Amino acid sequence: MRVSIFGTGYVGLVTGTCLAEVGHEVICVDIDQAKVDGLKRGEVSIFEPGLAPMVRANHDAGRLHFTTDPVRAIAHAEVVFIAVGTPPDEDGSADLQYVLAVARTIGQHLNQPTLVVDKSTVPVGTADKVRATIADELARRGAGIDFTVVSNPEFLKEGDAVNDFMRPDRIIIGTDDAEASEKMRRLYAPFVRSRERFVVMDVRSAELTKYAANAMLATKISFMNEIATIAERVGADVEMVRQGIGSDPRIGWQFIYPGAGYGGSCFPKDVQALARTAHQHGLQPRLLDAVEAVNERQKEHLFELVQRHYGDTLAGKTFALWGLAFKPNTDDMRAAPSRRLLEQLWAAGAQVRAFDPEASSEAQRIFGERSDLVLCDSEYDALEGADALILITEWKQFRSPDFGRIAGALTDSVIFDGRNLYDPDELEEAGIAYYGIGRGRSL
Ligand code: NAD
Repeated sequence: MRVSIFGTGYVGLVTGTCLAEVGHEVICVDIDQAKVDGLKRGEVSIFEPGLAPMVRANHDAGRLHFTTDPVRAIAHAEVVFIAVGTPPDEDGSADLQYVLAVARTIGQHLNQPTLVVDKSTVPVGTADKVRATIADELARRGAGIDFTVVSNPEFLKEGDAVNDFMRPDRIIIGTDDAEASEKMRRLYAPFVRSRERFVVMDVRSAELTKYAANAMLATKISFMNEIATIAERVGADVEMVRQGIGSDPRIGWQFIYPGAGYGGSCFPKDVQALARTAHQHGLQPRLLDAVEAVNERQKEHLFELVQRHYGDTLAGKTFALWGLAFKPNTDDMRAAPSRRLLEQLWAAGAQVRAFDPEASSEAQRIFGERSDLVLCDSEYDALEGADALILITEWKQFRSPDFGRIAGALTDSVIFDGRNLYDPDELEEAGIAYYGIGRGRSL
């Protein structure tokens, strides 16, 4: 099929590349000239395992094209995806300006019957706005062209996005139009392992499904962080509690890890946007508000542990920081807990030597040159001249470090473990003071 995709970020680029991989003819369009130029040269600016070679292979095979020209993209396609950002507005609701700008562009240049697919995460009712925007533009041109707007929220995870797209748990299609759902079924047929994974529903339910999924996952995380806070206070170890509850299949092992709070471009903004939707409809979303409040508190907790150890004497201290990305296997630092921690450490007069396997250039872009941040080449390099180690992103390579080397390098021999990667007893044996999340036994 001939497909065009507006937006070549994490979602648009993965979608375009995976659709090309199974044989569709794809044009990816973005307003960012530098990004498009880079992609034409085979340079992928985001880190996503397996993505770059797939982009190059499909580009070389002539199935995947990149352009800044929306007219060419719209003329090419029978299916047009909208996969641009929906960042939070000032009041927490989703900012639809990019989505509606694409809708306007489509309306201005559409010349053949087209299926318009909204893949961005958007509040309930957005498909109606997209439809009205395109219709207005067509009316302005006096053009009577058939088009249908379908909702198709995306569930890929950064860090495993290609795999998620190629082997989805489910594909959600929101439409009441049988022809549109049939077309989407053909488009996605190579990815659908069983019929029940292709779920067709009305547009509003599809739009809400995406928010419900992210809010549920964020709720699990905040719930566990609340249990961690209680565990710490009552002298229990939340890691024991986690192991004690995860084996119950009704609870499950996933997303019950306490930590430094959730971040990234989706959970924080989607929980907020869903809460705003509820408020706009006269509802008080008590649970969603609490999920967010717990997360905000949790993002401060590592710094509180640092203060508990050092008191108010952080000025002049140097901290090694392992991890910057909001989670492993990505370079994304949007709403990352590391950012709050860095601001707190800097405000207290501390220096930071940070290492992240993939996010250093993103940190450089965000923070620029500053005397209180050194971006290091390895985790051990970050320890040089540091007083203490703080771990905030659970990259695999941090799981089994050489504790003897850490103890030897740090002036104060103390680890603040924001992801509970380490065994407090093992660290005690290595002569390292240990602070974890919700580990009341060891505090
Ligand atoms: P992103 O910020 O990485 O990428 C958005 C891209 O859209 C940018 O390259 C930008 O230049 C481009 N763009 C903006 N306006 C444009 C226009 N008029 N025409 C063409 N391109 C334009 O965003 P993302 O992380 O890929 O997220 C996109 C959407 O998907 C959001 O709604 C997000 O909530 C949702 N989503 C994201 C993820 C994720 O893990 N990142 C997962 C599922 C859903």
